[in-house]
Amino acid sequence: KLNYKSNIKEVDELILSINKLASALNQQEKLRKRLTTDISHELRTPITSIKGHLDVIIAGIWEPTTERLISINEEVSRMNNLIDELGRLAKYDSENEELEIEKIDLAKLLKNIVFNLESKAMEKEIYIECELQEIKISADKKKIYQVLVNIISNAIKYTGEKGKIYIKTYNDDEYINISIKDNGIGIPVEDINHIFERFYRVDKSRNKETGGIGVGLTIAKSIIEKHKGNIIVRSDISKGSEFIIRLPNKLDSNDKRHLN
Ligand code: ADP
Repeated sequence: KLNYKSNIKEVDELILSINKLASALNQQEKLRKRLTTDISHELRTPITSIKGHLDVIIAGIWEPTTERLISINEEVSRMNNLIDELGRLAKYDSENEELEIEKIDLAKLLKNIVFNLESKAMEKEIYIECELQEIKISADKKKIYQVLVNIISNAIKYTGEKGKIYIKTYNDDEYINISIKDNGIGIPVEDINHIFERFYRVDKSRNKETGGIGVGLTIAKSIIEKHKGNIIVRSDISKGSEFIIRLPNKLDSNDKRHLN
């Protein structure tokens, strides 16, 4: 009898946590459904196109010209990209291991990434300029590499021909800042708060050759947060975007145990 009230409280708390769990599961279920729809949509477009080309060739209506074969090849590449991204996502979901912190020469790492992405930029005659300070960071090299590749590739993807990308690093009291600025298409105000969400893409028509499925920034944000940092975005539609990756200044290998 004495415990009557506290029992009711416990039951209330239990109901509350069941509700929370149910809503989290519901959210997961929604994401799963969206993923399935996204994948089928992404795959259907190139498959329809490939089938179209092959049908007319097999029916003898059109010759298998180089142009047609190139087009088929491009669609195959699109599917390939999608499957690569799905693989990355699955790998990322299953990996929850600790960060492997080491001292990294940031300028060297960035130069290496720019070198690797240069051919992509050159296809669109995009010029990449770097202003890199001598900065050492303590971070997980592979993961930071992935973040930088994602954000710099986006700058290339979402910037038009003859555009410009400006990469700058600098220190302030709290953070080591890596700024990646482009003069590309920009991000509409209503989308800017959503771009880090899983599967979020500003251009939902997916008929552009951008290839992504909207997970690059989700992964980037989570990796930077694991390093106790954050990412800031500034963008003006049709003027360009700036992504600033901020890593804590004072992080050294002694902090390693706190990171997971
Ligand atoms: P995606 O694979 O679609 O590129 P991301 O998660 O990397 O996925 O980015 C999410 C969305 O944010 C993109 O679809 C794009 O609309 C927008 N975005 C990201 N970077 C830029 C940028 N530099 N300029 C304009 N839009 C961008």
